[in-house]
Amino acid sequence: MTLDDVAGRSAYDGDHEAFRQSVRQFLRKEGVPNVADWEANRLVPPAFWRAAGAVGMLCPTVPEEYGGLGLDFGYNAIVNEELTYNGVPAGFTLQSDIVVGYLEHYGSEEQKRHWLPRMVSGETITAIAMTEPGTGSDLQSIRTTAKRDGNHYVLNGSKTYITNGQNADLVLVVAKTDPEAKPAWRGMSIILVEAEREGFRRGRKLDKIGQEAADTSELFFDDVRVPITNCLGEEGKGFVYLMSQLPQERLSIAVGAQASAQKAFDDTVAFTKDRKAFAGVVFDFQNTRFVLAGIKTKLQVGWAHLDWAIRRHLAGELTNEEGAAAKLWHTELQWEVLDACLQLHGGAGYMNEYPIARAWRSARVTRIYGGTNEIMKEVIGRAL
Ligand SMILES: Cc1cc2nc3c(=O)[nH]c(=O)nc-3n(C[C@H](O)[C@H](O)[C@H](O)COP(=O)(O)OP(=O)(O)OC[C@H]3O[C@@H](n4cnc5c(N)ncnc54)[C@H](O)[C@@H]3O)c2cc1C
Repeated sequence: MTLDDVAGRSAYDGDHEAFRQSVRQFLRKEGVPNVADWEANRLVPPAFWRAAGAVGMLCPTVPEEYGGLGLDFGYNAIVNEELTYNGVPAGFTLQSDIVVGYLEHYGSEEQKRHWLPRMVSGETITAIAMTEPGTGSDLQSIRTTAKRDGNHYVLNGSKTYITNGQNADLVLVVAKTDPEAKPAWRGMSIILVEAEREGFRRGRKLDKIGQEAADTSELFFDDVRVPITNCLGEEGKGFVYLMSQLPQERLSIAVGAQASAQKAFDDTVAFTKDRKAFAGVVFDFQNTRFVLAGIKTKLQVGWAHLDWAIRRHLAGELTNEEGAAAKLWHTELQWEVLDACLQLHGGAGYMNEYPIARAWRSARVTRIYGGTNEIMKEVIGRAL
């Protein structure tokens, strides 16, 4: 069973599906055989990013004039589904679904000409640094500052839990350019910091319960000087930009969650049909078939909802609340499905050599990052 066996996908056309086949082929040849090494080293090497860039898997929405393919978000979603389903843990979605949108929408012509082609090719790996040791959900309470000094900003502060933190060549840093501003969001900006700037330092590659190959890290900024032209868009508009990009970021997490649940289900059907117990196999128990039937039903509903959300996003209509609801629902589904599937594996489900065990540990974070699911409920509830 694979993703394209899912009946009635309605978000994609023939070109999307052809793209899926080439992405899948690439991942199975260049990615899957290396995953164990990457997990042991806790890093996906930059060479894999460049290889993915060469086959058009990075930032497919970037217009042709900036070195991209000029495609729609459906192509991003396909890369995401295939990465997740094939268990290839590269942090491409952070670059393609989140960071590139900021540069595309708010970057100056010079920033776009410089960075977009490099992000498409994989020559540049990016990160976005909002969260700090002292604050995550309450983004307006960040303490990192970017103070004007002539034609420069001077950045001071620290960030944590930053995806692609070790690999990143460019970090979009959310900082306060006016720490006294009231309300605080009016004083927040997004500043581009190149990794070679003096005073920029990478801290620990953090030890996580899952997603081992992801180089989630601490980052430090000690009197880092960057020219004022490194401000993304207008000074003081950073928070507004962040809010406007959230539906896509949250939809992206929903896409990965749904694909992860499908993979767990497919693996579990195969496992239970093979695993001997009493006079037959685990699949013979009515309990097993009922649990799997319940999951199958929810997955079917999930794909229908996800495709609806992708189509709305392609039409530019997905609202903030709908994006939050998609993230909330699909990540809760993912957790429910993975936990039930792990149970059907018995003791094997607790062993890291089985994909379900690693998937279960890695899935735990999707209800936390990209805004916690409690914050998703706040977003949905506030708009009622
Ligand atoms: C693997 C991983 C990768 C990450 N990648 C990045 C990244 O690339 N860039 C980045 O900037 N950040 C990243 N993060 C950070 C992530 O976005 C934050 O961890 C998340 O937003 C939660 O913030 P926090 O950890 O400070 O938790 P807190 O905000 O301290 O929340 C603690 C608890 O309080 C609850 N809570 C907080 N506020 C409310 C409220 N108003 N109502 C109800 N409950 C509330 C939360 O839901 C949570 O249960 C990553 C995190 C992880 C684990």
